Amino acid sequence: MVNFNEEGLNILSLDRFYMRYASLVSVYRRVESTSKRLEKTHVLASFLKEVPAAELETVILLLQGRLFPPWDPRTLGFSTALAVKAIAVASGETERKVTSLWKKEGDLGKVAGLLVGKKKQATLVTKELDAKDVFLTLQKFPGMEGKGSVDLKVKSLAALLGHASAEEARFLIRTVLETLRVGIAEGTLRDAICWAYLNPEMNYNMEKNDIEFPDENGREAYNALIAAVQQAYDRCNDYAAVAKAAKSGVAALRGISLELGVPIRVMLAQKEQSVEAGMDRVGRPAALEYKYDGFRMQVHKERDAITIFTRRLENVTQQFPEVVDAAKEHVEAETAILDCEAVGFDPATGKYTPFQHIGQRIRRKYDIDKLREQLPVELNVFDLLYLDGEELLDTGFEKRRELLERILRRPLLKRIKLSTLLLTGSTAEAERFYKESLAAGNEGIMCKSLSGKYQPGGRVGHMVKVKPVLDTMDLVIVAAEWGEGKRSGWLTSFTVACRDETGEFLAIGKVGTGLKELEREGGVTFQQVTDLLRPAIVAEHGREVTFDPALVLELAFEEIQRSPAYASGYALRFPRVVNLRDDRSPEDITTLDEVRRAFEHQRGR
Ligand code: AMP
Repeated sequence: MVNFNEEGLNILSLDRFYMRYASLVSVYRRVESTSKRLEKTHVLASFLKEVPAAELETVILLLQGRLFPPWDPRTLGFSTALAVKAIAVASGETERKVTSLWKKEGDLGKVAGLLVGKKKQATLVTKELDAKDVFLTLQKFPGMEGKGSVDLKVKSLAALLGHASAEEARFLIRTVLETLRVGIAEGTLRDAICWAYLNPEMNYNMEKNDIEFPDENGREAYNALIAAVQQAYDRCNDYAAVAKAAKSGVAALRGISLELGVPIRVMLAQKEQSVEAGMDRVGRPAALEYKYDGFRMQVHKERDAITIFTRRLENVTQQFPEVVDAAKEHVEAETAILDCEAVGFDPATGKYTPFQHIGQRIRRKYDIDKLREQLPVELNVFDLLYLDGEELLDTGFEKRRELLERILRRPLLKRIKLSTLLLTGSTAEAERFYKESLAAGNEGIMCKSLSGKYQPGGRVGHMVKVKPVLDTMDLVIVAAEWGEGKRSGWLTSFTVACRDETGEFLAIGKVGTGLKELEREGGVTFQQVTDLLRPAIVAEHGREVTFDPALVLELAFEEIQRSPAYASGYALRFPRVVNLRDDRSPEDITTLDEVRRAFEHQRGR
């Protein structure tokens, strides 16, 4: 059992009610120090058992490095420049000194630890930080707007830093920059909640790094409890709520259901290299659908109240009034949650346009009516997750589609319609459908298993995409270089990465081609990418800059090669940027497994 009372890091001291921030920091350190998933789970579970109910929400969010649940649109948006200021204020050093140390150390959290810790020794500040102090202070930041708000934020953070130990300062800075990343994967937190509160009959053997069950029934019972936690999370998308429910037992956990207006994570598709492989994967007969080249929309309807979310769970209702109208007028249901692809079209010719034309509609919050006229979208509905008070996540795809067809009986082209679908067991027919979809300007097809359940957040094998081989990859920028000559002032030569099963980002190449110097050339510009990347800078060494992986690019390339030069073990030949994919988060970029498969397939050609 992990003892949280050592080093004076007790959770509740006698004269205090709240948990110390130091207790949380001690957990961060323990979790960070091991790469073993079960050990992390054990550390977290032991800690969670001790957390009082009133603090659970705060603690669960802080453990994830968050101040808000994933469905909440608020972010801290605290820049490294402001963090530098706050560290300077708290330590009494100049900003220049902080910045130069940052350049040397490459990690602003570490710099805070070095400078603030030193100051603390000198002045012997006695007040200790509560987790709640940290949480409540930071949570107020998004609401601070207007004149003087920047100063106020800097002062508030500096005040927290003034009371922090070196280690606390380190994690405080990582939290405020939203780059905590101590390695708590969602699955780990799920299991820890189960271990802490649902009393599964199991024993964690630390030496063997294994779980022991009394018998096979024990294992099954354990898996059922884990599934109950997962199910609850799938529905509310908030581990704080899940933990609270789990603390009162399995019944409360099962009581968590979908809520209209709260987005759930979308289900993602795996990739197959051919129509035949796709059909084999999902089973025959399969439902095949056009794969539209737009962006994902999750549409919630509660009578006349419509809410629209992107695949990153951002609320974009305000930006798409035509979708609001379409859902209000054409969806014949009191309440429903629809999964859709919004596709842009040219209002003059009626021709569909690729994603890059309408991407700006997601971000733009002004001139909405003008933009709606210039770049209208059509809603292609392909799934139904909730209908008139009933959840459909565990209902098979075939039934969900049937219900969907029932509530969309009056589709209207260029406004709202069902995805084009072919039900077939024949590969030849499927091949024809694939060609037809490509000829119509779509990206390819989706193959869906008729019995597939809707798994929020899962990249599932019962829904696979088939696109022309070796087309593009979505990769995240992890590093770049400041340009020289006429490109000075811009970031250039971007190192891009895919991600592996554990969520780690692995470099796969460098790219500079495809970006434009001038806006009028059309396409993505260096300036645009530089502006988007600036807040994500974590370190600079000379011209080299590294980033918090945040910005996703779609890259085309000629070929994949094996390469020891990059952490992924692969490199892209002749890569070029085709698109900015800021509708995607780094969690849903191309995976190492997909790269491997594409590589194998290409060799076999
Ligand atoms: P990809 O973006 O290549 O990972 O492919 C998956 C994406 O295709 C989904 O997230 C949807 O946004 C999009 N998509 C387009 N048409 C469909 C469809 N008929 N069914 C499911 N997803 C679709």
